[in-house]
Amino acid sequence: MGLVMLYRAAVAAAAFAVVGLPGLAIVAAGAPVADAEGVGNLAMDAAEVISEEQALLGYAVDSGGPQSNPDIDVRLRAADSRGVAVLAELQRQGVELSEGTVTVLSRLPRPGQGMPPGRATYDAAIAELSRIAATADSEATSGSERSGPALGLLAVAAMSLLVLGAAALGNTLRRRDSDEELAAMAWSDGLTGLANRRRFDHDLAMYDRGKFPVSSVMIDVDHFKNVNDTFGHERGDEVLRQVASVLGDHVRYDDVVYRYGGEEFCILLPGASRNDAIGVGQRIVEAARRITLPDGSHLTVSVGVAHDKGATASESFRSADQALLAAKDAGRDQAVDAASLEHVDEPVDSAGQRNDELDATLESI
Ligand code: GH3
Ligand code: MG
Ligand code: MG
Repeated sequence: MGLVMLYRAAVAAAAFAVVGLPGLAIVAAGAPVADAEGVGNLAMDAAEVISEEQALLGYAVDSGGPQSNPDIDVRLRAADSRGVAVLAELQRQGVELSEGTVTVLSRLPRPGQGMPPGRATYDAAIAELSRIAATADSEATSGSERSGPALGLLAVAAMSLLVLGAAALGNTLRRRDSDEELAAMAWSDGLTGLANRRRFDHDLAMYDRGKFPVSSVMIDVDHFKNVNDTFGHERGDEVLRQVASVLGDHVRYDDVVYRYGGEEFCILLPGASRNDAIGVGQRIVEAARRITLPDGSHLTVSVGVAHDKGATASESFRSADQALLAAKDAGRDQAVDAASLEHVDEPVDSAGQRNDELDATLESI
């Protein structure tokens, strides 16, 4: 019996011993599940994958915030996808799961679109899945020749697991829920719920250190001062929330939307191609026009996009910022690609020449 099997047996036995188990919901509409062993394995797969996800999320928070390490992010996305797959299979088998367990196994919120489930929800889900596995295991082995020796081994394994489990539980309890809330608040913007400037600075430094290729999209709401002056600050706040929601709707799972400050936003797109980044910029300009103000007029935004193969994230961000200024200069309500602004650092003879070059830029994206 390999380590994984031993672990599984231990978890199953511990759940069995501790919980006592009557009335566990591994049956659909009261009928025994057809393949108890299969369900037991699935439940253990699910418990394992969400333990890994929980550990990765915990690592991310402990080491400076969610998304702090591209390697962790990749593993987290992989665990997330495996959770979704195993959830689909458990549901196909008719296994009834609590709402919390379904949430934990479902797709994690996209970066910038809310926080993952709390630690207590993960703990409860792992406990529920372990109980399901234990029940399935008892059904699968009852009456079989293997049950005698297996139960002896389970008893030993259960003891070890209980010791390990007690240590893990101690760690969990030491970290109160309020700590998680504080951590979430420290990284997110109170008005929009997006990642905040603090997290932006942190993530940019992280991408710089890892020389990780990142495309940047900078967004600034056009004439936003007028929105406040005409309709009041409360309406202005509401418009900022609408813009945040539009931005979140137009990015991939890996991209992070930040409120950079005031009415300025930034999206960092790790590993995105130039076309991806430009597409995001253009779609945001179009979608923002659908935000209607109380007098029936439409909001507009200006966008700068940068994708430089050899550049650091900070350089990419600075280029996007320059492109944003160019979009403002060129009349707002548009996206400009920094790649067409190579001349920006060079002396420009006249405003007219610069505008011609900008026109060419705008046509090129
Ligand atoms: P431009 O098209 O050149 O970007 O013009 P603008 O009016 O958008 O830019 P400006 O920098 O002059 O004004 C930005 C305004 O955004 C001023 C500030 O009061 C407002 N603002 C910044 N943060 C908030 C906020 O959290 N809520 C509200 N309602 N307004 C904000
Ligand atoms: Mg601004
Ligand atoms: Mg503005």
